[in-house]
Amino acid sequence: MENLKVMFEEDEIQKKIAEIAKEIDKDYVGKDIVIVCVLKGAVFFTVDLVKKMKTPIELEMVQISSYQGTESTGKINFKKDLDGSIEGRDVLIVEDIIDTGRTLKYLKEYLETKNPNSVKIAVFVDKAERREVEVKVDYTGFVIPNKYVVGYGFDVDEKGRNIPYVGYLDN
Ligand code: 5GP
Repeated sequence: MENLKVMFEEDEIQKKIAEIAKEIDKDYVGKDIVIVCVLKGAVFFTVDLVKKMKTPIELEMVQISSYQGTESTGKINFKKDLDGSIEGRDVLIVEDIIDTGRTLKYLKEYLETKNPNSVKIAVFVDKAERREVEVKVDYTGFVIPNKYVVGYGFDVDEKGRNIPYVGYLDN
């Protein structure tokens, strides 16, 4: 891909994910977690994260079609909803990026309506300066400036997800 500059190398990514996995294991001693991976981008982060965790997990996948026009209702539309029940469970949402915060705010609120014991959020990268709504992120990989990232799950029109490092478009 042209104009792609390296933001985080593969080894740096894996080192950071190992730190997050350790933190999660420390926080969930004696518990087991339902991981909710947000398709598609977060697949890469999710796989690397759960392999580094010792806490037992079950894996759920959700795909959100769009949050547009839902500001007033707080509703989100799913391309793919949860398969199983999360009632009474400790849920960890795993997302690739938080930008305005709308996607994660709505997803967390939606999951909370299913009566879980807890819902926490892990994000791989955080564009903190872009936040428009307040969302508590419990585990963060990297805080990044407002650059468009590509690779390690991040796409440009569905392309570039398999680039093994995180790059950014330098136009
Ligand atoms: P939100 O604004 O709701 O926090 O995030 C919306 C979505 O925007 C993210 O889930 C992600 O799909 C997309 N997004 C935001 N910034 C970037 C970026 O730099 N690269 C890519 N590939 N997607 C992004």
